[in-house]
Amino acid sequence: MEYEVAVIGAGVMGSSAAHYLAKEGRRTILIDQFPLPHTRGSSGGHSRITRQANYGSPALTPIMLDSNKEWHRIAEQAGIDLLRTSFPSNYKAVVDPSAGVLLADKCIQAFRKLYVNSGGTVLDNWPVTSIIPGDIIEIKGVQGKDIKVKNVVICPGPWFAPLLETLGLKFPVWAEKIGVFYWKIVDAKTPGFTFIDTSDGNHHFYALPDVEYPGYMKLCPHVGPMINPNERDKADMSRLLQQAQKYVANYFPCLESKPSVMESCMYTLTPDEAFILDRHPEHKNIVFAGGFSGTGFKIAPSCGEALARMAMGLDPKLDFSSFNFSRFTQQHVRSRL
Ligand SMILES: Cc1cc2nc3c(=O)[nH]c(=O)nc-3n(C[C@H](O)[C@H](O)[C@H](O)COP(=O)(O)OP(=O)(O)OC[C@H]3O[C@@H](n4cnc5c(N)ncnc54)[C@H](O)[C@@H]3O)c2cc1C
Repeated sequence: MEYEVAVIGAGVMGSSAAHYLAKEGRRTILIDQFPLPHTRGSSGGHSRITRQANYGSPALTPIMLDSNKEWHRIAEQAGIDLLRTSFPSNYKAVVDPSAGVLLADKCIQAFRKLYVNSGGTVLDNWPVTSIIPGDIIEIKGVQGKDIKVKNVVICPGPWFAPLLETLGLKFPVWAEKIGVFYWKIVDAKTPGFTFIDTSDGNHHFYALPDVEYPGYMKLCPHVGPMINPNERDKADMSRLLQQAQKYVANYFPCLESKPSVMESCMYTLTPDEAFILDRHPEHKNIVFAGGFSGTGFKIAPSCGEALARMAMGLDPKLDFSSFNFSRFTQQHVRSRL
């Protein structure tokens, strides 16, 4: 066999897992359905919030701390600047001095650079159509020869539910389209800042400083319409755009009232908005992660390393047991079908 491990999905999670596998000397192939880089998954774009302050499950705290350290190490090893933590000294509301902006596209570039430097192979534009379990797993795609490996790591982002269903697993996981809006800063004195407003359960907004487009702040709703990931841009975003405009008019007079640039991305949601990282119950050589619910980027180093260790037959370094899929009942699954 040419490869020992295949990683399906070259977003931030798959790229991270592939990096840690190759670093341990495993002959690895990283596969993606689209030509790389692309913006059709969840990891596209230039920026993501990272922080150590945790408003999710307590089990996430050690994972966030570990990833935060690891991002600094990856930046150093890859020789790429990945993190902006310097904020204005006149901040009044920030309680997490470690928080900042991860340069998302560069983070993926860093993982892939380290992966390829360690001898890893990338196969893009190669949609996986089926995964046939066994001691030797066969991976079939629409193009060319099948790939045979001993272990598979599956990180397909918004395609999580349909791909895992081909392995007999049904998950209460769905994809949403998220509007990514950039608003022109009209008041030059506006400080660049990272911001999350969870005060209203229905209108959770977040903002990042003008990293992508100088002079334009990124401010987005943390919710969107449910979609088929293959038809993302058919979804109508006009109601969410109106809500975002109202929010900006109420709270951000320093911004223009309409966004100048509109992009989109996808979240993969679970009922409790916590991710899934686990093994196939019957085929232990198949591991997977998904359902990161719009908050997974920052923890990609720890999740990737955990997946790599599991694919090598080891336990994860940190405790991921809160993120097993056994926490979901048939009732959860039925309610999403
Ligand atoms: C607008 C937006 C803002 C966000 N903000 C933050 C933030 O501030 N902080 C934070 O921590 N997180 C944030 N997130 C969440 C974070 O970006 C995601 O959790 C993370 O990128 C998920 O990565 P992934 O690798 O699981 O999925 P993806 O990036 O979607 O990667 C999955 C890959 O699998 C491939 N694939 C799927 N099916 C197949 C197949 N059959 N064959 C081959 N390849 C396949 C896809 O093409 C894709 O490249 C945000 C997400 C969005 C959309």
